[in-house]
Amino acid sequence: VAARPLPWSRVHVLALWALLIAGGVVLFVGWWGTSGTSRLSRQVLWLNVAVVGVLVAGAGVVIWLATGRRAVGRRRLGLLHDPATVTELDAPAFTAHCRELVATVNMTRYHRADCSFVSGKAVRSASGAEHRRAGRQPCGMCLPEAAGEGGSR
Ligand SMILES: [Zn+2]
Repeated sequence: VAARPLPWSRVHVLALWALLIAGGVVLFVGWWGTSGTSRLSRQVLWLNVAVVGVLVAGAGVVIWLATGRRAVGRRRLGLLHDPATVTELDAPAFTAHCRELVATVNMTRYHRADCSFVSGKAVRSASGAEHRRAGRQPCGMCLPEAAGEGGSR
């Protein structure tokens, strides 16, 4: 799946605008209807029409935000590990894998093996002391010193 700069497609943008415009038109109709009358029963009727307009526009915004949030969640799952896929059986192996401290030859920082910065890269495992001797700093994202193997601070 190619990464898009925005979590919404053109269809989502059109749906948002359609609901905002429809809600705005209904709101305007409600205002138009109530502004020409002094009878309370007529005003309440047109006020109800205006409330429906606000609800339609609000539904458009809620659908817009929910769609965007869902797309961001899917993209995040593609970048990071899905905790639901780690079963009870392979949890110890996964934990041991996470404690591994890795880096490529050219990296200035070393990482936990599960860090997204080293995902798919040809990394080599070494101790924290060996990485520091090679001039590498611990990664600020995955905090490899907190992973256990760390050693001296
Ligand atoms: Zn890292």
